[in-house]
Amino acid sequence: MVASSVLGFPRIGANREVKKAVEAYWAGKISAEELNKAAADVKKACWTSLKERGVDLIPSGDFTLYDHVLDHSAAFNVIPKRYLGKNLSPLDVYFAMGRGRQADGVDVPASEMKKWFDSNYHFVVPEFSEETDFQLNFNKAVEEYNEAKALGINTRPVVLGPVTFLALGKAAKEAKPGFEPISLLPKLLPVYKTLLASLKEAGADWVQIDEPVLVLDSAAYLEKQFISAYTELAPVSPKIMLTTYYGRLDTNLSFVVKLPVAGLHIDLDRAPAQLDEVVAAVKPTNLVLSLGVVSGRNIWKTDFQAALKFGEKAVSALGKDRVVIATSSSLLHTPVTLAAETKLTPEQKDWFSFALEKASEVSVIAAALSGSQDAKVAEALEANRASIAKRRAFEHNSDDAVRKRVAAITPDMLERKSPFSVRKEVQKKVLNLPKFPTTTIGSFPQTKEIRQARAKLNKKEITVAEYEEFIKKEIETVVRFQEKIGLDLLVHGEPERNDMVQYFGEQLEGFVFTQNGWVQSYGSRYVRPPIVVSDVSRPRPMTIRWSSYAQSLTDKPMKGMLTGPVTILNWSFPRADVSRELQCKQLALALRDEVIDLEKAGIKAVQVDEPALREGLPLRKADWEPYLNWALPSFKIATAGVSDALQTHSHFCYSDFDDIFPSIQALDADVISIEASKSDMKLLNTFKHYGYSNQIGPGVYDIHSPRVPSEQEIKDRLKDMLAILPDSLLFVNPDCGLKTRGWKETEASLQNLVAAARWARQA
Ligand code: GLN
Ligand code: ZN
Repeated sequence: MVASSVLGFPRIGANREVKKAVEAYWAGKISAEELNKAAADVKKACWTSLKERGVDLIPSGDFTLYDHVLDHSAAFNVIPKRYLGKNLSPLDVYFAMGRGRQADGVDVPASEMKKWFDSNYHFVVPEFSEETDFQLNFNKAVEEYNEAKALGINTRPVVLGPVTFLALGKAAKEAKPGFEPISLLPKLLPVYKTLLASLKEAGADWVQIDEPVLVLDSAAYLEKQFISAYTELAPVSPKIMLTTYYGRLDTNLSFVVKLPVAGLHIDLDRAPAQLDEVVAAVKPTNLVLSLGVVSGRNIWKTDFQAALKFGEKAVSALGKDRVVIATSSSLLHTPVTLAAETKLTPEQKDWFSFALEKASEVSVIAAALSGSQDAKVAEALEANRASIAKRRAFEHNSDDAVRKRVAAITPDMLERKSPFSVRKEVQKKVLNLPKFPTTTIGSFPQTKEIRQARAKLNKKEITVAEYEEFIKKEIETVVRFQEKIGLDLLVHGEPERNDMVQYFGEQLEGFVFTQNGWVQSYGSRYVRPPIVVSDVSRPRPMTIRWSSYAQSLTDKPMKGMLTGPVTILNWSFPRADVSRELQCKQLALALRDEVIDLEKAGIKAVQVDEPALREGLPLRKADWEPYLNWALPSFKIATAGVSDALQTHSHFCYSDFDDIFPSIQALDADVISIEASKSDMKLLNTFKHYGYSNQIGPGVYDIHSPRVPSEQEIKDRLKDMLAILPDSLLFVNPDCGLKTRGWKETEASLQNLVAAARWARQA
């Protein structure tokens, strides 16, 4: 029989129960026991609903209160010293690592966070050094396995693999120069052995060990480590299903098939072309092959016919017992269920599958491949055939005007009129900013009042006019505050935006929205990605009235604020029927019109955020160029339509820029602001190394935590930066938008920031 499997499930709860509970715990409103109870309810709901949907291999241990990599670090005692000896409970140490802690005399910043592969999920980066003392502080895998078992559900526990764990980590500050986390593997394996042996003892038949680094180029250098790790682990472990996802194995396949594991999972959503090669390599072994045919990354209904073709190929080579039908990756990137959506039209609803619907998909495909005669399976196959045909028919209606406009893009549309050196002088006169200009990244605290006003508007409890009056007041508060504390280049604060992508999607043609389609971005922060369903265009201006209103309140320059085309696309669920390039260029043209309109309205600086440019970069270097060849021009199309006098800004976060520096330079934005407070100063050295020539604002403090940076800390950072960057190029700003922060810490932090910039001007 062909079995069905889900690699991981959204861990936020169908109604965001986990966010609510975790935030209530942080606020001191519920106890740790109550938090655990809420978590247990969510886990139970996942397991039982997967079982009801007929999934054979149900994951456990993939749940988390904050981040699964952080769970793993905490469980394995990979806890930086700065969080210890502070009289905190293990749970509070855990949260302190995730989000920092500033209360009752304890003041520690959060650990670094990074994007998880090429997704918009962020993980907390483990820190290793020669001193790392691996121990099993708690055995989450066994605990959750038993928790499910007590409910009568036999699960396949999920464990982050040892090589991936080390490879994703970084050297701690105290590590010796040249230290490589992977060198700790021999010390780490005994703890894995204990963990896996205890799973076996608890009765687990299989364990899913995630080694997504196997789809990266760098894994080619880790062959020896993979062999030694799995040679040691396999004898004591339940049967190991080694999972790879988000890309292709490529040359790594040659050693992966030799590992002493019982099964191999491959991603056929991202890398369908690898099937033949993998089947051929697996055939002479005893490996079970798990086919990731149901996308863990998008929300489109799986085309059963296509999935069955993959399955049949594998079955004819390996036999039914050696094939598993699975989601391509964990479903953590998809919303929980389509059932909660009441506003999508029946036609739209029929196009999509969210996590629970995907669970049904794997079980139907597996049943069909197993030769099931069940009428329900036949019905599901038929219904799927009809849905897919309808969507294909819909895709044939394109917007000719938009398609023609994209086809008519010319190279001169990508370039500003003059080079930066000329623009800089023009802009100096227009903007009249002091040395070390202070600014922010755009958003100000999205307070409870703002969210309530929006909720009331959506429920029609207040009128549009009342809502807009409210937003105007918010903008005024933000403007007055910035004037009061002495910031130089102001922003309107983005109170009218529910989200930096959704807000634009809602005003553009070609998108649809969910009511409850939340996916985790980091910790308790969830987003609701818009879905691109048809050609994109801008029917009318989107931000002009708010930016103009904000500018009308002050003599200081007001920065217009837009989300860039690449980021809108990367943080939406894109169409699967046309290229991402086409979708991005359509967005770029829409934004170009908006930037031009902002200039016409008298705005003198416009920021086009591209925090997702880096994360969209393909995982394999060989695929970078094709991506950059449309991503970079898209940004330039959006920003180059204006006069020399308009100062363009762009913002990037959580990025390792070392490798894409030339691309950032090529964007030719007048000013870029970057997240630098967590990634240390490595980044700036890169900029120095290449000689970045436009203006730059490396974040002077980390906004992802409620902690207030002292004036001295900011001065120290500025000193570090000035040792590397020419002072004529430096802007002073936080490292990202302030929407997730409260007013209290925002006020205190920005006051310190302004004071530090003033000090720098004098120094
Ligand atoms: N302008 C946005 C904000 O301040 C940028 C956010 C981001 O980079 N993620 O909220
Ligand atoms: Zn940012």
